[in-house]
Amino acid sequence: MSHGFKGGAHPDEMKHLTSQKPIEKLPAPELVILPMSMHIGAPCQPLVAVGDHVYLGQKIAEAQAPVSAPVHATISGTVKAIAPMEHALGTKVMSVVIENDYQDELDPSIAPIDYSAMTAEEMIACIKEAGIVGHGGAAFPTHIKLSSALGKVDTVIINGAECEPFLTSDHRILLEHPEEVVEGVKIILRILNLKNAVIGIEMNKENTFERINSLLPVDGSIKLVPMAVKYPQGAEKQLIKTITGREVPSGKLPADAGCAVFNTDTAASIYRLFTTGMPMHRRIVTVSGPDMAVPKNLEVRIGTPVKDLIAFCGGFIEPPTKLLMGGPMMGTSLYSDEVPIIKGTNGILAFAEAEPIHISDPRCIRCGRCVADCPMQLVPTYIYRAAMAGRMEECASFNPLDCIECGVCSFVCPAKVPLTQGIRVAKQKIIAANRK
Ligand code: SF4
Ligand code: SF4
Repeated sequence: MSHGFKGGAHPDEMKHLTSQKPIEKLPAPELVILPMSMHIGAPCQPLVAVGDHVYLGQKIAEAQAPVSAPVHATISGTVKAIAPMEHALGTKVMSVVIENDYQDELDPSIAPIDYSAMTAEEMIACIKEAGIVGHGGAAFPTHIKLSSALGKVDTVIINGAECEPFLTSDHRILLEHPEEVVEGVKIILRILNLKNAVIGIEMNKENTFERINSLLPVDGSIKLVPMAVKYPQGAEKQLIKTITGREVPSGKLPADAGCAVFNTDTAASIYRLFTTGMPMHRRIVTVSGPDMAVPKNLEVRIGTPVKDLIAFCGGFIEPPTKLLMGGPMMGTSLYSDEVPIIKGTNGILAFAEAEPIHISDPRCIRCGRCVADCPMQLVPTYIYRAAMAGRMEECASFNPLDCIECGVCSFVCPAKVPLTQGIRVAKQKIIAANRK
C-alpha cells in the first residue's frame, strides 16, 4: 500500500501510442557524436585523438572530477573529429565524433566482472569506470549516489513511476527485461549491505506486476509496490513520500530520509555491467508524439543523431512546431534534430499543434490552483510575482530553490502565467547571487 503525496496533476497520459510496442533495436548509425558533458557534474577530457581506431566499449574520455562519469565508444570505428558540437542544451559542447566501421569490434578488455569477493567500494569503482548515470533523465552519476548512500540509508527505491506523459521506455523494460531489473536491485542491495528494496510502479503498468512478483526473492528483501497514477510521482522526493511516507526536508537529499532512489534501467544497467562487462553505451528511448508517423520504443546507441531515430519511425506527419527531448512536462525543446541522444535521453516527442495564443501580459486571476497543486507545497504565484518585479530577497523568502521544475503550476494555471519558466530564471539568479 503506498502513501501518496500532496499536490500534483493528471495530464493526459498518451502512453497508448507506444505502450504495446516492443523495444526495437535501431541499427547502429553511420557516426556517433559523444559529448564530453552528458551527466550532472564536470565535463570529461578526451583520451583519443583524431584518426585513432576505437573499439566498442573503449573508454574515450576520462572524468575530471569526482562528480562526473567517463564516456565510452558506442560503436567501433575511427575518430573523425574532436570539436564543439550542437547539444540538446542549446549550446555547443566539446564532443568526440566516431565514424562507424560496422564491425562492432569489442574492446578486448571487456569481460564479465566476478564481484563475489569484491568490497562495496570496489563494486562502486566498477560502476564509476563504466560511466553509468541515472537513466531517468537527470543523469546523476550512479557511483556518487551509491557512495553517498553507503552506511546512511535503510531503503532502496526503484523508480518505475514513469509519470511523464507519452514515455514508455521504463514500462517496456519492466515488461521485456524484468529479470535484469530485479538482478540489478540485488546487486545494489549487496553494495549497500541492505535487505530492503521497493520497486514502485504506477498502476498503468499493471501488466508488469505478475512477472516481476514471480522474480522477487522469497525472503521479502525486494517488494513491488503498486502506486496510483499521478504526476510528478517519479520525482525523488515525491516517490519517497509515496513509498515510505517520509518527507525529505527542504534543502536535503534522499539519503537524509534514509533512501536511495534508482531508475529501473539504471538497475538493469548495473546488472548488465557485472554480467557482461559492458559500460553504458546504449539506452531505451520512446520516440512518440502526435506528429510522429510510427511511434516506437527504440534501443539506441548513445551518440546517435536524433534525426536517425525520427527517420526510423517514418518521419513526421507534418512539419513539427515542437520537438522535445524528454517528456512534455520537463523535457527540453530541441532546435535541431542533428543533436545526439545522450545518456539521460528517455524520449523524443514531436508535436505539430497550432502555436499557442501568446498572451503578452498574463494576469493571475487568484484561483489558487498552482498553490493547491504544487507537489513541493510552494506558492508559485508569489515566487513568480516577486521575481518578475525584481524583488529577489522577497522571492528567496518563498523557497524557490525547493522547486523541482515539474511544470505542474504552469500546467494547471487557467491564466497561462508562465510560472515554471519564471521560477526557473529566479532560481538561476538566486544561485548565482549565493555563489557571489
Ligand atoms: S513551483 Fe516548481 S515544484 Fe511547484 S508546481 Fe511549479 S514547477 Fe512544480
Ligand atoms: S494558477 Fe495561475 S491564475 Fe491561479 S493563482 Fe496560480 S498564477 Fe494565479
